[in-house]
Amino acid sequence: MKSVVHWFRRDLRVADNTALYEAIKRGEQVYPLFILDDSILNAPDMGAARISFLLDSLRELAGALSGLGFRLTVRKGLPENELPRFCREVQAEAVFCNRDYEPHCQQRDRRIFNLLNAGGIGFEVFKDAVMWEDGEVLTRTGTVYSVFTPFAKAWRAKTPPAPRPRIPAASHKTKPTASLDIPQTSASLGFPLRQKIPCGGESAARDLLHRFVSERLFDYEPARNFMAVEGTSQLSPHLHFGTINIRTIWEAVQRVRKPATPVQNKSVEVFLNELVWREFYLQILAHYPHVATGCFRPEYDRLQWQSDENLFQSWCSGRTGYPIVDAAMRCLNATGWMHNRNRMIVSMFLAKDLLLPWPWGERYFMQNLVDGDLAANNGGWQWSAGTGTDAAPYFRIFNPVLQGEKFDPQGEFVRQWIPELAALPGRHIHQPWNHQLVLSAKSNYPARVVLHEEQREKCLALFQAVRGRPPGRMPA
Ligand SMILES: Cc1cc2nc3c(=O)[nH]c(=O)nc-3n(C[C@H](O)[C@H](O)[C@H](O)COP(=O)(O)OP(=O)(O)OC[C@H]3O[C@@H](n4cnc5c(N)ncnc54)[C@H](O)[C@@H]3O)c2cc1C
Repeated sequence: MKSVVHWFRRDLRVADNTALYEAIKRGEQVYPLFILDDSILNAPDMGAARISFLLDSLRELAGALSGLGFRLTVRKGLPENELPRFCREVQAEAVFCNRDYEPHCQQRDRRIFNLLNAGGIGFEVFKDAVMWEDGEVLTRTGTVYSVFTPFAKAWRAKTPPAPRPRIPAASHKTKPTASLDIPQTSASLGFPLRQKIPCGGESAARDLLHRFVSERLFDYEPARNFMAVEGTSQLSPHLHFGTINIRTIWEAVQRVRKPATPVQNKSVEVFLNELVWREFYLQILAHYPHVATGCFRPEYDRLQWQSDENLFQSWCSGRTGYPIVDAAMRCLNATGWMHNRNRMIVSMFLAKDLLLPWPWGERYFMQNLVDGDLAANNGGWQWSAGTGTDAAPYFRIFNPVLQGEKFDPQGEFVRQWIPELAALPGRHIHQPWNHQLVLSAKSNYPARVVLHEEQREKCLALFQAVRGRPPGRMPA
């Protein structure tokens, strides 16, 4: 083909990129393009942390492409308008891109396929963000798995593909094209950043992977649950924006695991399983798109949550009176990041202690997390609320005090984020209401907005009203 457009979306890297590799292999002139998509920027769940990370990643991508003799063109608008226009400008014969599994992206791509085809331009979409996509990991009867463990077993039985070969430098000159400058800050797109977020881009992703694999992988299993410890990879925003690919991560792990002891091997297996969780939720979203707007189990759409805006605000701002919940929320608000254990604690607290609609929390996470990802976030929220696939049974309700005492035993994490409680010693920090210091007028730390034991009973009643059955059995 003479002229091919590679349309970058959530694959912001040059290494191990399927569609980019194919475009360069098959096109004489390759035009890399990124569209700042107004429909995504204007979505109610968009947030400054993600935009800022995206802009960082785009800047690095433009530099990496330029080093190989390609020029990244940036446009802003709706892809349905911008992409055909750009194709006409560069007389493209085809557009190549990597598949996105979110329902609105799938619909957009169908519209684009029709638009381009009507103009005689090809549209080729490649599997890239996952090892195995919807339809490739099926039960013996050919249905999609809706339970994680058998899904993971079938997934792990397949041979993972290797990373794509390195791309060569551009071999042909391309026409000059008009491009927007990449905005310096998210504020210029209407999203002032108030958080101190991690750095985006392909090289930051590679550095994180290297550090994780060489320093933390073998201790992952014991360390990953403790919020005061840096025990996990922190690769999630990079996987979301495609500044790194699962094939590269998988290969890096396999390379170091050979001499591992059985204990170390257990850590490796647990880590690899987390990558499978990501694909599990992606295939759930692709196959059951209704989860984006309602419960996986539709009977739970009838749950009578409370709509108490004040309670919600206390959760958002980290002022519920439960230290581990508040520390986690304050950490999110300040950094765009939250540890997985904390995500489980605060999401379960919102649904099962505050009895608020879980989609409120889901949206707040999307607006504030740097790794906000529809599939993983929705899967996590439905798990905690008890409305999802592999849901924690609805009668399993975390006690926030016990969670804090178990996973932040010395209170280091809470002390870091709640200075009002810093003087409380050790694990006492998780029950400040029992401590004189906090009861004194000096402390600004709030009293509990609800009492866990009372709310637990109300939550069980809420679910029973929908199920009409006593607790003790998993939803059918
Ligand atoms: C309520 C809730 C909301 C969540 N929202 C998101 C979200 O918006 N975006 C997001 O990427 N993850 C989300 N998760 C999953 C998980 O918390 C994060 O992926 C993880 O904390 C990211 O840290 P890490 O990269 O250090 O993970 P690691 O522990 O190093 O794991 C490696 C990778 O595996 C994947 N992964 C790990 N755990 C999960 C999981 N439970 N579900 C799906 N993928 C997983 C991630 O891509 C992660 O980067 C959510 C979990 C819960 C309970």
